[in-house]
Amino acid sequence: MRRTLPLILLVGLAFAAGCGAVLAAGDRLELETRAPTLGAAGTPDSAVVARARVIMDDDLADAAVAVFDRVAPRIHLNGRLLRELGPALSTFLLAHERGHLAHHHARRHGFGFTAIPTPSSTLRGYEFVADCYAVRSLQRGRPDAVVAAVRFFQLRRGLVTDAEHPPMGERADSLIACLSATAQ
Ligand SMILES: [Zn+2]
Repeated sequence: MRRTLPLILLVGLAFAAGCGAVLAAGDRLELETRAPTLGAAGTPDSAVVARARVIMDDDLADAAVAVFDRVAPRIHLNGRLLRELGPALSTFLLAHERGHLAHHHARRHGFGFTAIPTPSSTLRGYEFVADCYAVRSLQRGRPDAVVAAVRFFQLRRGLVTDAEHPPMGERADSLIACLSATAQ
């Protein structure tokens, strides 16, 4: 029990900071700013999601990392941290990472010679888009996963996040807005 609290906190931070950690790519980006609104992110690329490899890695620094690569898209998952998060939140996290792939989110863009880092404001917008993708894909079959994510962010509303991630309270509000828009 003594390890539970710090581990849960670590998991929480890893989820908040890590689930947006989308790495390299060499393709054109869909530039998003803040986008809780449906339709603003364009049509999700379901083919990229379908061929994405899921790689388990308990040494991963984050809970999950999506790597958008048109040829070999992949999602790295830290099974140890996901077990701590529980099945509902893990399901949401995986769907969120698929959202990053479906919308071709990348931390750098260019043609492979001098890739330019994606601005932090754009990366924050990616989180809303990936969250909304997860809501749309889970709300019918796994509503418990959406509820778990909303609660996760609501309970951590006051927690400080890094420059690349929106405040958790904003993500909770965005999830609810996306949920109600999708339900109509
Ligand atoms: Zn993310």
